[in-house]
Amino acid sequence: MTLPRTAQLRRRLLDWYDRTARDLPWRAAPGSARRADPYRVWLSEVMLQQTTVPHATPYFLRFVERWPTVGDLAAASDDAVMAAWAGLGYYARARNLLACARAVTADHDGAFPDTEGGLLALPGIGDYTAAAVAAIAFDRPANVVDGNVERVMARLYALETPLPAAKPALHALAGALVTDERPGDWAQALMDLGATVCRPAAPLCDQCPWAADCAARASGAAQTYPRRSPKADRPRRYGAAYVLTHGDRLVLVRRPPKGLLGGMLGLPSTDWRAKPWSVDEVLATAPDRQDWRAIGVISHVFTHFTLDLAVLRAEAKTTITLQAPMSWEPQSRLSDLPSVFLKAARLALPC
Ligand code: SF4
Repeated sequence: MTLPRTAQLRRRLLDWYDRTARDLPWRAAPGSARRADPYRVWLSEVMLQQTTVPHATPYFLRFVERWPTVGDLAAASDDAVMAAWAGLGYYARARNLLACARAVTADHDGAFPDTEGGLLALPGIGDYTAAAVAAIAFDRPANVVDGNVERVMARLYALETPLPAAKPALHALAGALVTDERPGDWAQALMDLGATVCRPAAPLCDQCPWAADCAARASGAAQTYPRRSPKADRPRRYGAAYVLTHGDRLVLVRRPPKGLLGGMLGLPSTDWRAKPWSVDEVLATAPDRQDWRAIGVISHVFTHFTLDLAVLRAEAKTTITLQAPMSWEPQSRLSDLPSVFLKAARLALPC
């Protein structure tokens, strides 16, 4: 008997997933009667929105060891969570993570809502995370579509519409494959296919359960899908950061709660603006009159701009009095800094 196309696609992908599913610390095994812990699924999904599984996994393991339940995380201090998040980027997500943990604890007795609608009502949970948690933790037939799934759908159907205009069509194509049968495994199977086989630059079509079904593969140019609109150049901004030390202590600053890297510890720095800073301006903005030396420039890519950050270094003769929110801190606190400041500090303070 020949299965209809949708059923055939589903059978092939779920069979493949049953054989090859990645063993991940937030996952239940394929087909398992045991459900994954919603707290671990939610935490992993928030982390994975901005980085890869190999990068996120050690962070995930540290978080669940230190805060094993959503209630433990809700009770943590903002500073402790922001410091543990350092290196994962997109710090607004860490603030939303805490707000969500506190809402689940205060308003839902520590139990995540088990529907997409209920999850969406929580702070910091958007369409994607709500769908992923509903499917993976609660086996709801939710349509879980991230960049990986968009790529797989664009290739399977060789969709010629470029991104981002293609998003609604890709969402609809993915949704047509979702059913009540094993929705959590289905979502994870598609994620695994996109992450390990249907890779962005070099898809491993010979290992793909959909090789015989895939229109992009048949075209001989699978890696050229999804089509993309030409990109505008990422704008460049300029700033300077100051590494002021006295022995093994250095000056750090708590950034304002709102805005980029809000609430994080950082190096004192100028604003980051579109026009390069002159030497006089950089010296006038320094946290103190010192014998500043220019060390070099680091570049750091944020979502909406690239930053060229000049790094200046001085050794103070004493621990001069500082105005809040600056403070003297041991150099061991460098590990709490977000990547951009860590890069700058490492340039000035080579180990
Ligand atoms: Fe992706 Fe190749 Fe599989 Fe098509 S056959 S879905 S391009 S890995």
